[in-house]
Amino acid sequence: MGDLAPDPRPDRPVGEVDGASLIRAWLTRAAERVGAAAAALTELDARIGDGDHGINLERGFRALRSRLAVERGGSSVDLLRLAGRTLVSTVGGAAGPLYGTFFLAMADASPDRGRATTVELADRWQAAATAVGRRGRSTTGEKTMLDVLVPVGGALRAAADAGDPPRDALRRAATVADDACAATRPMVATKGRASYLGERSRGHVDPGAASSALIVRALAEALDQASSGAGASR
Ligand code: ADP
Ligand code: MG
Repeated sequence: MGDLAPDPRPDRPVGEVDGASLIRAWLTRAAERVGAAAAALTELDARIGDGDHGINLERGFRALRSRLAVERGGSSVDLLRLAGRTLVSTVGGAAGPLYGTFFLAMADASPDRGRATTVELADRWQAAATAVGRRGRSTTGEKTMLDVLVPVGGALRAAADAGDPPRDALRRAATVADDACAATRPMVATKGRASYLGERSRGHVDPGAASSALIVRALAEALDQASSGAGASR
């Protein structure tokens, strides 16, 4: 041990992957996943809402993709802001302002420090989930996207506290997200359109929870992709 012993709780960087590359890869992968799942998300929303969630999100993420193609540079903060602004102005419904708030709050939570770290991911994610709850006047247990966003924030925080590298943290977060999404099925909705159904909302997965789980999965995949690509990480 002695002076050269590693910090037991280091904030480990993503090897050669910088924050901006990670966020760009994430948004691109999220757009692909949302596009592929649009019909399924819309189907979920048709059961307990008005059947537009997949269509809304697909439109927003398609717009984001074309804007990302034009904006070649930008820090992670710039890219998160671009995502937030684009989703607010193109998605509509409840999810547009909420996801817009999510990405804008992520941008505001931390300056671009170059390489992304688990602590930074946890800080950004938790700030963003808190902002969504404030904007939606909602909390966990109400059968919304928050039922995924909040436990994912908790998983990232736990990983940061344990000194886990981002890749492990995000893989774990993706599993937590899938489980949290499935856990919305027996819940009764008390926010959003699904709340109009009351007890009849039980037995269906929340569409916003499903899209949030896709977005988490996309982040884990983006990191795997980015760190196995050019300038491979340790
Ligand atoms: P709309 O309900 O206006 O048609 P969408 O179908 O695009 O909007 O999105 C519905 C999703 O938005 C829900 O499945 C839920 O996850 C989320 N949602 C709705 N209201 C809230 C709220 N107040 N707080 C958090 N999430 C919400
Ligand atoms: Mg809807």
